[in-house]
Amino acid sequence: MEKFALELDLPEGIVNVSFEKKEEPRRVADIVLDLLTFPDIVVDLGITIAKQFNKPITCKMGCGVCCCQMVPLSPAEAVIITEVIEGLPMKRKTAVLNALADADKKLQDAGIKEKIGEVYKMSISKDVVTDINSRYFDLQIPCPFLVQGSCSIYAWRPSRCREYNVLSPAELCANPFVNKIKRLPITLKFCESLSHAWASLTNTQPVIIPLILAMEWVQNNGEARTLAIEGTESFIRTVLNHASKRANEEALERMKDHT
Ligand code: SF4
Repeated sequence: MEKFALELDLPEGIVNVSFEKKEEPRRVADIVLDLLTFPDIVVDLGITIAKQFNKPITCKMGCGVCCCQMVPLSPAEAVIITEVIEGLPMKRKTAVLNALADADKKLQDAGIKEKIGEVYKMSISKDVVTDINSRYFDLQIPCPFLVQGSCSIYAWRPSRCREYNVLSPAELCANPFVNKIKRLPITLKFCESLSHAWASLTNTQPVIIPLILAMEWVQNNGEARTLAIEGTESFIRTVLNHASKRANEEALERMKDHT
């Protein structure tokens, strides 16, 4: 089996990854599912560095408070989440669909259903984004995959969930918009990179979709499920090089903010 390798210079250190070369057509959603281990690698590096500074992760099994925040997805992740729901056993699937319907009603009643679709647009100011995120959190809509405080789709969880780890006392997470939460400061925003790569393939503008609207987005963009490419190497290189570049830019921005 032929492989190709990539060496990425990230703020957390050098990351070496290798992937199988596949020339036959593959769905982009399936390629992205394989790539979701990349944020895990970067997070592990970040955790190792944080430990050296005596800053352990304070997230605990069964907490799940952060799972009431809005979760951003790239289009491929929206497809993955939709197909996870469709593949659930009937009872669980019904519970998730009911939770999504409840969430939709809450969002409509609060008048932010339309706004949350806009929240991740690059042109929106940070204050507006924080305001919408905070209003979403106030509605206390638990992620439909949260079961007894734990993620029930751990292997398929989105990149942003993998990147979100907390160093401050866990009790502060009860209101992340009031309390000062210290997150593991990795600069990776993998869903943005996935979204850019998707946009290049489809000749569209990059979009980020809130998890709670994933199924709706996939229903409205039927071709997303079947989007496939021949030869995965170029796509994977594009995603990972973009992710590395963005992470380094973000690290620089943060440094400027602290000087
Ligand atoms: S997918 Fe899992 S980790 Fe992510 S918000 Fe939902 S329950 Fe939490």
